[in-house]
Amino acid sequence: MHSWEADSRSVAEPLPPSLSRLKAEFEKLPGIGPRSAERLTFHILKSDKESALALAQAIRDVKEQVRHCRICYNLTESDPCAICADPRRDQSQVFVVEQPKDVMLLESTGLIRGVYHVLMGHIAPLDGIEPGDLTIDALVARVKTGKVAEVVIATNPTMEGEGTALHLKSVLASYKVKVTQLARGLPAGSQIEYASREVLRDAIEGRRSF
Ligand SMILES: [Zn+2]
Repeated sequence: MHSWEADSRSVAEPLPPSLSRLKAEFEKLPGIGPRSAERLTFHILKSDKESALALAQAIRDVKEQVRHCRICYNLTESDPCAICADPRRDQSQVFVVEQPKDVMLLESTGLIRGVYHVLMGHIAPLDGIEPGDLTIDALVARVKTGKVAEVVIATNPTMEGEGTALHLKSVLASYKVKVTQLARGLPAGSQIEYASREVLRDAIEGRRSF
């Protein structure tokens, strides 16, 4: 059996410690099994020093320089982020999304004049994700300043996204703010990240009030 052969070989010829440490680190990555980890490890070993160290530096930069914007929680290297700091953006219209990648997607439509608020997930009681685990308090604090005229809920049209939208609606009901939701041009159960630009445009322009 192949797995047995692989096991016996790795016992007979253990990797040098630094190689085996790199392989172990690769194995911690999502979707990377022992074979892929081994392939990546030897790829790094064979590649020239410059490109291998560029990878190491890129990882270091992500961990040391990327943070969450203190206003909208989007990923950024400057705080507040470029969108929050842009005087041409309409700070009174806040699009609420689940993840930073949803901001990138809505931005790619070129249709958003407002700003964002990233929840950092969705409510999912079965997975132990409660409203307190999201940035909902920070959103409410933004609304409380009185500078937000409209909150546009742009959570995914999945069960969790809809549940999160309903929760936001009830939380925001006690404040003087218009609450709308992206129109359901988005197929139910889909993710914003897979929607086409045209579908997103319809959803943004056809947003409805709660
Ligand atoms: Zn921001």
